[in-house]
Amino acid sequence: MRRTGGLPLSRKVSERVQAIPPSGIRRFFELVIGRKDVISLGVGEPDFSVPWSIRESMIYSLEKGWTSYTSNKGLKELRDGIAEYYKKFGVETCGENVLITTGVSEGLDLALRAVINPGDVVLIPEPCYVAYKPLAFLAYGEPISISTNPDFRLNYDTLKPYSKFEPKVLIVNYPNNPTGVTYSKKELEDIADFVIENDMIVISDEIYAELTYRGKHISIASLNGMEERTIVLNGFSKAYAMTGFRIGYAIAPDDIIQAMTKIHQYCMLCAPITSQIGALEALKLKEEEMDRIRAEYMRKRNFFVKKLSKFLDVRMPEGAFYAFPSVRETGLTSEEFAERLLIEKGVAVVPGNAFGKCGEGFVRCAYAVSMEKLKEAVERMEEFVEKLKSD
Ligand code: PLP
Repeated sequence: MRRTGGLPLSRKVSERVQAIPPSGIRRFFELVIGRKDVISLGVGEPDFSVPWSIRESMIYSLEKGWTSYTSNKGLKELRDGIAEYYKKFGVETCGENVLITTGVSEGLDLALRAVINPGDVVLIPEPCYVAYKPLAFLAYGEPISISTNPDFRLNYDTLKPYSKFEPKVLIVNYPNNPTGVTYSKKELEDIADFVIENDMIVISDEIYAELTYRGKHISIASLNGMEERTIVLNGFSKAYAMTGFRIGYAIAPDDIIQAMTKIHQYCMLCAPITSQIGALEALKLKEEEMDRIRAEYMRKRNFFVKKLSKFLDVRMPEGAFYAFPSVRETGLTSEEFAERLLIEKGVAVVPGNAFGKCGEGFVRCAYAVSMEKLKEAVERMEEFVEKLKSD
């Protein structure tokens, strides 16, 4: 039986936890559970199974009985493999500067807790992934949101007015969830200028790096003067569809990676060994296989955004697997639009305000579903919008 009684909530649960809102995305998904007619463009989850070679390596490891803890930092071969892999994005590092985490989610929590003193200002460009603000707050930081509306691109001029807060940390995420924006080297240099001028640390969430459709992904850690002040976070959830295996990593300078490892060894001990073995195998996937996966997402993006742009204002996403159309023209708020679309047409999207205030007026559509579902979803959306416009 569920236990509810006892002390009042205000005494049992910490004030900080009470102060953070539940995830705006999750709340919305409760509405979808159990509805078979719904096409969900809601969850940020790849629509393909983990490539077979990866699954096979994990099955084989279980057959061999490899079920123990690993070293706190993670398997050495995996850490060395990641250091080698990151050369692709311009970063020269070694396995000693890599920590294997249980997803980027853990990496983010560790990074924030490792560098923040109570009251330190954390700059968070929005719209952004839902975890940044609550985790910065739980780490006793002071998160300050920066609106990147209208073009959703961060640059020196947008950042400049925030110098007065003497910020310590900037979180960047590109390709971006939910906007699909990514940055060229020149744009990253512009952001790096602000970071260096203000003697800050960057937490760079590069989880969608492999899913870059415009140019090549460049890590901000690879720029002059940035390696010693950047914590790179990445993982296997998105590019390799390994969401359920909870496996990611952080790359950071000695002092920071040691601090993160200290927290990790108390709260996590190590990432699951089976997932680490799968990750090791993922790194062996041929470049052509990644090209094939990327091309498939790009085909869906092109199809979906072209159709969507006929009835909603939408920018072409440059990476990840999200489109972020404006719904202002319909006269509905993001939440009204998402709720009515779900109830009236059975299509789930996420209201843009779940990603920060400046996401109001937009909705996030994850196009990581089958082509068949995507076609059906966009048709239903068109009918819904056309009806609203004619009412
Ligand atoms: N960072 C971003 C930008 C994401 O979109 C997500 C998941 O949607 C995560 C981090 C969480 O990743 P992981 O599954 O590695 O914890």
